[in-house]
Amino acid sequence: MLSPQWLDELRMRTTLSAVIGRTLRLTKAGREFKACCPFHNEKTPSFYVNDEKGFYHCFGCEAHGDAIRWLTDQRGMPFMDAVKELAAEAGMEVPAPDPRAAQRAEKRASLHDVTAAAQEWFEGNLRGAEGAQARGYLGRRGFSEAIIREFGFGFAPEDRQALKRALSRFEEPMLIEAGMRIAVEDKEPYDRFRGRLMLPIHDTRGRVIAFGGRILDGEANPNAPKYLNSPDTPLFDKGRTLYNLHRAAAASRKTNRVIVAEGYMDVIALAAAGMEDAVAPMGTALTEQQIELLWRMADKPV
Ligand code: ZN
Repeated sequence: MLSPQWLDELRMRTTLSAVIGRTLRLTKAGREFKACCPFHNEKTPSFYVNDEKGFYHCFGCEAHGDAIRWLTDQRGMPFMDAVKELAAEAGMEVPAPDPRAAQRAEKRASLHDVTAAAQEWFEGNLRGAEGAQARGYLGRRGFSEAIIREFGFGFAPEDRQALKRALSRFEEPMLIEAGMRIAVEDKEPYDRFRGRLMLPIHDTRGRVIAFGGRILDGEANPNAPKYLNSPDTPLFDKGRTLYNLHRAAAASRKTNRVIVAEGYMDVIALAAAGMEDAVAPMGTALTEQQIELLWRMADKPV
């Protein structure tokens, strides 16, 4: 396994447009290069290559990566072969394997397992006895059983250690890194989401990467925020994520429209009313990256 420093050095010495330019015809676009995306079918270019940042990004399908990722994903090379090829071109020597670094990488890869397991647990709680209050709230909001299942509603109990017990097969540092537990100095870490109606947040590939939680017992916790999201984690970048994008993208191709609502409950209410092309930002303000994403989805974001 390779250290992040070594990989950064490799990226710095690699000119990404030269690597990509071998298999894709690139056109200069300001300080970047653009092309029709090789990862999805399109007629107008939304695939950009930025040599300064060392990243490519497609605003159509969100394909994103560096030179190594290009060689593995586009050319189908095994990771180490891609690294060796780039290192040879950059005149760098590939260091010998470090088992501890390999362990760290394995942990990172399984943060998705943590969020997937948490989602399963939240959903089970909602169906169980302790989920009665949350089910009552959903009923009052008029959400059907089908909508509740489709959007993956769940419930986090009030207990500060319940998630840790339920997900005991994962180590504490992983639960913290995935944003599910909060670490405090000199005290035992505790569950981030308690006494909340839970909603999973997905990436464009439909994998659970984060959660939003709505408080149920507002009077018992007057100081608790009504809505609480996962923090930014290795899986979740708030400013680049739009809630419901993985479902809305397909719907918006049919309608050539995308509706931006304020929050996830609005998106779900719209879907329940038959408008499936709605998304919402994760915080209060829409970021530049989110706006770019929207403009490439439809001619007229609403
Ligand atoms: Zn693409």
